[in-house]
Amino acid sequence: MDEFNLQRKVAVITGGAGLICSEMAMALASHGVKTAIIDLNKDEADRIAMDIERKYSIPSIGLFADVLNKASLEASKMVINQKLGSVDILINGAGGNSPSATTKIETMDPSDADNPELTFFGLRIEGFEKVFDLNFMGTLLPTMVYSLDMVRQGSGSIINISSMNSFRPLTKIPAYSAAKAAVNNFTQWLAVHFGRTGVRVNAIAPGFLLTEQNKFLLIDEKTGAPTPRSQKIVGGTPMYRYGSPTELTGTMLYLASDMSTFVTGVVIPVDGGFNAYSGV
Ligand code: NAD
Repeated sequence: MDEFNLQRKVAVITGGAGLICSEMAMALASHGVKTAIIDLNKDEADRIAMDIERKYSIPSIGLFADVLNKASLEASKMVINQKLGSVDILINGAGGNSPSATTKIETMDPSDADNPELTFFGLRIEGFEKVFDLNFMGTLLPTMVYSLDMVRQGSGSIINISSMNSFRPLTKIPAYSAAKAAVNNFTQWLAVHFGRTGVRVNAIAPGFLLTEQNKFLLIDEKTGAPTPRSQKIVGGTPMYRYGSPTELTGTMLYLASDMSTFVTGVVIPVDGGFNAYSGV
């Protein structure tokens, strides 16, 4: 018996051309799921879809859509419905931080008051809004568009990609932290709202991976050495290492599949123990 019951289901993966979500798309396809790879980067989405089809002989399509633009999401859904069928699984993976929403120093002292470029006071509102919206509205809007199929058919699984900073904010990145905390809250809210529809809503909070999005904070550009922040992260992770995107796929498959039919409204940390460790 196939306890996963994923064969021939249809999954939409936003940010599917990215590091984490391309791995998730591959893992779903390896269990017989048809995948729609949604991304701003259509070329990369197409490349991943082609890779998936070649490797797993299961339909996969790459599509352009902006998770902040409902019309473009709706247009992509029409194509998905035509080419793959009704949507069963949604992974809200598009997200990320930006240097424009990042303070230069972790904590202030009174003498920093005259150096706004280093602190909270120098954060650019446009940068803050961009990061907040990408991570929060970029979860809410695709959910509105793609989950209607699931509600109509009375089954489905939505998986939001949160972050460690959703539980306790990390220094320097207030917009990203606030947005991911909002993603957790929305995960719980929608799980309740959808409670009787057969559609489950959960999230994964990945621990620390070394990726393009956070490299500028973790590796010294000039020397290539780990920054003090990077040393703190690894020191704060009981497993004493970064994770890899493939280490998130087991939890994703569990949440997407019939292995978790009574699980809704949870945020699962996959973090090498970071969230459990007080640092002492
Ligand atoms: P990534 O930058 O490799 O992938 C993100 C993808 O989203 C990119 O392909 C990008 O083109 C796409 N994208 C960006 N804006 C978009 C938009 N408006 N519409 C559609 N697509 C858009 O990032 P990643 O490291 O794979 O992160 C994936 C998710 O995991 C994000 O939500 C991120 O916040 C979260 N996360 C990452 C880490 C980490 O260490 N990398 C840790 C915790 C959580």
